[in-house]
Amino acid sequence: MYCPFCNANDTKVTDSRLIRENNQIRRRRECLDCKERFTTYETAELSLPRLIKRDGRRDPFNESKLRAGLLRALEKRPVSLEQIETAINHIIRKARTQGEREISSAQIGEWVMEELHNLDQVAYVRFASVYRSFQDINEFREEITRLEKNAKSEK
Ligand SMILES: [Zn+2]
Repeated sequence: MYCPFCNANDTKVTDSRLIRENNQIRRRRECLDCKERFTTYETAELSLPRLIKRDGRRDPFNESKLRAGLLRALEKRPVSLEQIETAINHIIRKARTQGEREISSAQIGEWVMEELHNLDQVAYVRFASVYRSFQDINEFREEITRLEKNAKSEK
């Protein structure tokens, strides 16, 4: 961040706060060269909520983990990388627009399933069987039957 007064590159953040309404971060900065103070408004691009894991631990939102999960489910399936990126963007947008600071990993899992359901049903079942850890084979079979019914009714 360059100082607007003397153009020096050494500035120090003295205060930083999130403005919820427009998702910006307001920062008070001080130039280490000329000691002038100024305020910047930055888009809160890092405002993705933290994940609340099943065991209650908190983790930063991890886009590459999300991508890895989708890629694993979609392995060898006829779905393009572009479609996968679009699905990831949908999920990230949802996570952002929640406006919460924390979001459960279960919620992310549900969104992933929604996206996979639209992309590829085999991948959907793969993911769901691991993610929901179907209690028994009947539950799994019911899900397949439900999918088949949906597929028929879409035709
Ligand atoms: Zn300066």
